[in-house]
Amino acid sequence: MGTNSSTAVLVNISTEKWPPRLRTYFGSLNVRSPEPGEPYAITVVSGCDGLMDIGDKRTMPYRITAQEIAEDIAREINGDSGEGSFHGVFVAAGTAPTEAELAEARRRLEEFQRRLVTAADLEWERTKNPMFITDLDRRAARQLGLEKPWLYDPKPLAECPVCAEKIKHGVAVCRSCHAILDREKAAQYGLFPKEGKAATDSQRHRDKQEREVAKNDSQK
Ligand SMILES: [Zn+2]
Repeated sequence: MGTNSSTAVLVNISTEKWPPRLRTYFGSLNVRSPEPGEPYAITVVSGCDGLMDIGDKRTMPYRITAQEIAEDIAREINGDSGEGSFHGVFVAAGTAPTEAELAEARRRLEEFQRRLVTAADLEWERTKNPMFITDLDRRAARQLGLEKPWLYDPKPLAECPVCAEKIKHGVAVCRSCHAILDREKAAQYGLFPKEGKAATDSQRHRDKQEREVAKNDSQK
């Protein structure tokens, strides 16, 4: 299959979903992504006729080959994420990708993903700010099976209704003003206030020891 074939085969090894590709000469084309368990997905592209404006309100039809269209789309999808940018889309030489083509695509994708993760690591080292980590970085780390401190977007904090201090969601007691924010949970963990202060486990343990000492004394 060469550049004169009427169709070309776009191969995608990434599970990422792409928005449809738009071109004036054919409208919209959806590049398929592999379903779970599928190693790759194929999108067959056909050639089409474009109209060239040659002035004087005249146009001239010209042929755009399937190969040209497929290469253009692969370039567009792969090429907008910086150095070595590759998102797993390529044009197969034949009607189906060969093992060698797939292996090469996997190698390029992994290399690009490792580069993203390295850059994200440096960014995290410098700023500790999850805002500077992109979705692309997070996806790369997940696909490589890497556990990173910057993988998770921390939940935004809540505000204590008593002292307006930033606190975590669902806490029983405000860390700043010690107000009980969830009575049920506080009671469950033995933090219910007794005579104005929280009874901790160690306190109750002490109380029990004192009672036992008193009991032993009375037995003498
Ligand atoms: Zn508070």
